Amino acid sequence: MGKIDKQCRCGKASFIFLAYAKRHLCERHFLEMFEKRLKKTVRERRMIRKGDKVAVSLSGGKDSSVLLHCLSRLRKDLPMELVAITVDEGIKGYRSNTIDNAKNECEKAGVEHVVFSYEEKIGMTMDRLMEKSPQETPCSYCGIIRRYFINKKAREMGVDKLAIGHNLDDTAQTILMNIFRNEPSRLARLGEPLVKKETLVQRIKPLMRSPENEVVAYAKLKGINVLEKSCPYQRFAFRKRIRGMVDGLEEEYPGTKFKILNSFLEMEDALRKKYSEGAAIGECSECGEPCSKELCKFCSLIKPILKH
Ligand code: SF4
Ligand code: ZN
Repeated sequence: MGKIDKQCRCGKASFIFLAYAKRHLCERHFLEMFEKRLKKTVRERRMIRKGDKVAVSLSGGKDSSVLLHCLSRLRKDLPMELVAITVDEGIKGYRSNTIDNAKNECEKAGVEHVVFSYEEKIGMTMDRLMEKSPQETPCSYCGIIRRYFINKKAREMGVDKLAIGHNLDDTAQTILMNIFRNEPSRLARLGEPLVKKETLVQRIKPLMRSPENEVVAYAKLKGINVLEKSCPYQRFAFRKRIRGMVDGLEEEYPGTKFKILNSFLEMEDALRKKYSEGAAIGECSECGEPCSKELCKFCSLIKPILKH
């Protein structure tokens, strides 16, 4: 193997080495590459149209904060109305730090910031909910509540697209999880829902081609706080296993994460064609929110705990 010059192509000192591209980049060229890739992803997948109202689902963690920052910069080339929505789940010792971070990022970007809590919406915090009804998979329950109320809020605010901070690592893991669980129909709707429904705000993932370590590097260069503390309920046993596997492969065979994503993108049209036949989104018979069964997950899984 030839010697790799530890310099960016411009002659400046290397800030980061991209093993998958066998390239060193200086700070400026790394920032440029990172933003260009996001812009290309948004354009190629037609995620945002000129004039769209886009809400960033902003937890205050590194991914969503970087996403807000990048979309805010993208406004110069692609005019859009940008807002941010943050949910306070009510998790002691964890959420308040990320909410402060979220507020700070919104002030910096000059975007409207809407915050609401589980306490306001369901009358109790996530901590209380888990005390009342301990679950083996708290994140599934938490996710149902968050998605339900964020979709409602975004719709009330007239939002066209809801931007989620999933990065390349998250996306590659999700693809493999769907394959290992033999859930090709879920894989088919990973990029976007199989059918559109007015009451279901479209979710977009502009960071889907951005590796997690590069998101962290970008955040550091831009002075965005990267909080290390993780949620005490986090118990993604299966995802953790897949993550370890993918990270190990990436280390040995650089570019693995991109290859997993690109394989999915190659198959995406065929999968969508196969599974969109007969796919439909109806309304929950109890609350009227969009869902594919008789009752939505909020009404069937969360409400019984609240009533208990
Ligand atoms: Fe909710 Fe799980 Fe996220 Fe914690 S890690 S905030 S429980 S989804
Ligand atoms: Zn419902």
